[in-house]
Amino acid sequence: MSTTSNAASNTVSVLIVEDEPKIARLMADYLTTHGFVVTTLGHGDEVLPWLEQHSPALVLLDIMLPGKDGLTLSREIRQHWPTIAIIMVTAKVEEVDRLLGLELGADDYICKPFSPREVVARVKAVLRRSQAVADSPAEEQNAPVILNEDGWQALAYGKDLGLTAVEFQLLKVMMQAPGRIFSREQLMDHMYRDNRIVSERTVDSHIKKLRKKIHEALPELEIIRSVYGVGYKYQPEG
Ligand code: CA
Repeated sequence: MSTTSNAASNTVSVLIVEDEPKIARLMADYLTTHGFVVTTLGHGDEVLPWLEQHSPALVLLDIMLPGKDGLTLSREIRQHWPTIAIIMVTAKVEEVDRLLGLELGADDYICKPFSPREVVARVKAVLRRSQAVADSPAEEQNAPVILNEDGWQALAYGKDLGLTAVEFQLLKVMMQAPGRIFSREQLMDHMYRDNRIVSERTVDSHIKKLRKKIHEALPELEIIRSVYGVGYKYQPEG
């Protein structure tokens, strides 16, 4: 099943992956009413091929699906498209704790049964979070570090941190999704487009140097955090 609503200008694209047609239609109708461009897929195996061709801002991902399940899909989406926001949809409230423990990289979780109003609210909240950095100038957010992409420079309150190209890229990938945890593998994927073989320790050593440079400029702030056993995240506050 694949249906796409009429596209309007200025809209944000959302992919719904849900095999129960009634639920899929309910979510799609409500999101469309609220101005989103919605596509619905009902089979897990359809998702990655579709994403190769389209770039939604967010995926609403059911867990129990025919074909590839939502957990596998969540990992694969995170791996290949780290900036797409993911909201996992589960039928069991008690499953959320387990899902959180799996570190799937989802941005939020919704439990069935849900109200369409709740879905729209959650979608908007997640998009606000994930797009705040992408859409508004860093100066307006009072961000401690600003990237100058043309010059491959990172500026801490105007002072050049003197990053290498690799350090700059690592920081850029993480800054595109504040608060999201990236595994070393995911970071490597984004770094080495030419498929050079690197070890996870190489990532650690680049991150270490990156953090040192940031720390020298901003000793009072820790903005790149390591998450034990998982990876790293950019989180300037909290
Ligand atoms: Ca299902």
